[in-house]
Amino acid sequence: MATTALDLAKVRNIGIMAHIDAGKTTTTERILFYTGVTHKVGEVHDGAATMDWMKEEQQRGITITSAATTTHWNDYTINIIDTPGHVDFTSEVERSLRVLDGAVAVFDAKEGVEPQSEQVWRQADRYEVPRICFVNKMDKIGAEFQRCVDMIRERLNATPMAIQLPIGAESDFKGVIDLVRMKAYVWNAEAKLGEAYDTVEIPDEYADAAREARDTMIETLAEADDEIMELYLEGTEPTIEQIVPAIRRATIAGTAIPVTCGSAFKNKGVQPLLDAVVAYLPAPADISGVQGHDPKDESEDRSLERKPSQEEPFSALVFKIMSDPHLGKLTYIRVYSGVLEAGTQVLNSLKGRKERIGKIYRMHSNKREEIQSVGAGDIVAVMGLKDTTTGETLCDPGNPIVLESMTFPVPVIEVA
Ligand code: GDP
Repeated sequence: MATTALDLAKVRNIGIMAHIDAGKTTTTERILFYTGVTHKVGEVHDGAATMDWMKEEQQRGITITSAATTTHWNDYTINIIDTPGHVDFTSEVERSLRVLDGAVAVFDAKEGVEPQSEQVWRQADRYEVPRICFVNKMDKIGAEFQRCVDMIRERLNATPMAIQLPIGAESDFKGVIDLVRMKAYVWNAEAKLGEAYDTVEIPDEYADAAREARDTMIETLAEADDEIMELYLEGTEPTIEQIVPAIRRATIAGTAIPVTCGSAFKNKGVQPLLDAVVAYLPAPADISGVQGHDPKDESEDRSLERKPSQEEPFSALVFKIMSDPHLGKLTYIRVYSGVLEAGTQVLNSLKGRKERIGKIYRMHSNKREEIQSVGAGDIVAVMGLKDTTTGETLCDPGNPIVLESMTFPVPVIEVA
C-alpha cells in the first residue's frame, strides 16, 4: 500500500468554476481524460492503455462523481475539488472554495462573463482564491476571445492578462500562440489522444499580432509585478525564466489573471491549460499557514497557526460527506498540517470527541486507491467517522485546534 509523502511543491488543489453551460463538466472531463491517458501511457509504455481508456471513455464518459478527484500531470498531483456552480448551493460553493488553493474560471467565448460567473467570481474574491481563466467554446459561432478578456476586466473588475492569442475562431479555430514562449500550438486532428497539438513556429501572418499581444502581456505583468516593472523601465526584455515566476507571483497575489482559451468539447487547448495550472496556480507550500484557535483556551489571544508541513501536528478540515455505493460513508478532508495514519484516533475539536479513522482513500476518476497515510497539503476521503460533519476540524488529540470557521460573518448591529 502506498504511503504518501507528497512533495508539497508538486501538488495543486484546484476547483473549476463557471456559469452553468459554460463547459465546466466538459473541461473537467477532458482534464481527467488527458491526465489519465498520459499517466497510464507513461506508466505502462503501451499504446493499448490509451485504447482501453478511449473505449472506457466512449462507453461511460470520464465523469467526476466524487467531491475530490486526484489526477496527475507530468510529475504533479492535481486534486480537482468539485465546486457546485448553482446559485442555490452558495454555502456549499463557499465551503469548497475554502479548501482549494487555486481555481480555473471557465467562460463561454460567445457569452463572455454571465451574471452567475460574476457571483462565483465574487465568492472566489472573498476567499482570495488565485485564478486563471479558460475561455472555452472558441469553436462556437460568435466566439470572440478579446471581447471575453475585456468583459473580465470590466464586469469582474479584475486584471486579465492574455497569455495566448487564438489562431482563428469558430470553425476556423486552428490553434493558439503561446505568448510566453512565442510558439504556436496547432491542433492536430490526426494525432493520438494525449498529444493533440503540434508545436510550430508562429505563422507569418500572425507575427505582428503576436508581438503586439506579447507587448500587452508584458505591460500588464509589469503593472502587476515589481521585478518585471524594473526591467520594463530599463528597457530590458524579460526572459522566460523571469516571466514564468512573475506570472506565478502575480496570479497568487491576484494582481493579474492569466487567460487561456480553447474548445474543451473538441479537445483543443486543454493541455496548455493544464500546463498553466501547474506553472501558475499555487502549491499548498505557497500558503503561509492556516489560522485557528485552541478550543480549551479562554483567553483573548488564543489564536493558533498551523504551517503546511508534515512536521507540524495533524490538522484537517472536513468539507464534504458523501455516500459511496461500494464503500458507504466517505468523509472528504483537506489536510493542512502534519500526517494522518489510517487506523489512528483523531480529535473532532469542535465537538470535543475522539473518533477513529478507518481506511484512507485517494479517489481517482476510474479507481480508488487505498493509502496508509496522508500528509499536509493533500485531499483524501476517509472512512470510519461516525459523528463528524462538514465544516468541522479533525486534529491530533494532543494538539487541539479549531480551524477558522467557514460560517458567514455575523453583522454587528449597533444599538443607539
Ligand atoms: P457546465 O454546465 O458548465 O458543466 O457545461 P457542460 O460542460 O455541460 O457544457 C454545456 C454545453 O456546452 C454542452 O452541450 C456541451 O456539449 C457544450 N460545450 C462544452 N464545451 C464546448 C465547446 O468547447 N464548444 C462547443 N461548441 N460546445 C461546448
